[in-house]
Amino acid sequence: MEKYKELRRECYEANQLLPKLGLVLFSFGNVSAFDREAGVFAIKPVGVDYAAMQWEDIVVVDLDNQVVEGRLDPAPDARIHSVLYKSFPGIGGIVHTHSTYAVAWAQAQRDVPLYGTTHANHLAVPIPCTEIMADERIAGDYETETGYQIVDCLMARDLNYQNVPMILVAGHGPFTWGDYAANAVYNAKVLEKLCRMAAITEQLNSATPPLKAALVNRHYNRRHGRRTSFGQN
Ligand SMILES: [Zn+2]
Repeated sequence: MEKYKELRRECYEANQLLPKLGLVLFSFGNVSAFDREAGVFAIKPVGVDYAAMQWEDIVVVDLDNQVVEGRLDPAPDARIHSVLYKSFPGIGGIVHTHSTYAVAWAQAQRDVPLYGTTHANHLAVPIPCTEIMADERIAGDYETETGYQIVDCLMARDLNYQNVPMILVAGHGPFTWGDYAANAVYNAKVLEKLCRMAAITEQLNSATPPLKAALVNRHYNRRHGRRTSFGQN
């Protein structure tokens, strides 16, 4: 009996958006979809190319990373996703890709400056990049520690996961989240676009100032002023 068929299909559809949006190659990256009531999430299996993937390949795991449905092994990154689902109440989907411009900023170990209104429409602060991971964390439960690296970065900067639905893990790449898997995919595409725009901006003018606060606020509040993100606020 397939109890989580719907969740697995949602996860499958969201995963298939990644190659369509030009965000992944081969089997890179993963999307998960969370059923908060059941405390389980569906995620892409390890090492299966998007082109060959069927919804039946999608695996369901609980927040202790135990498989509860599906015949394949989950992507090892499932351990990162479970940390984020436990730490960010209300999110329903997570995306990880190695999209080119987002990875470039992560490798440069830089926050993505807020240079324009496209960025301000989505978030009112630079896109954060975590610290590079410490040796103890790398040698430990690496995927779980990557999850904590993300959580710690937002906490250290007093940023809220509801207002900042995207982050770069230094030396690695982007993670995004949203109310549903499809929103997290949308944020992954927006993030890649913002990273590309910022990189080109710096090529054209390496002394570009951050966008002035009045424009940031005008654009951010126009989009988010009355929006109740994740059913809260
Ligand atoms: Zn990765």
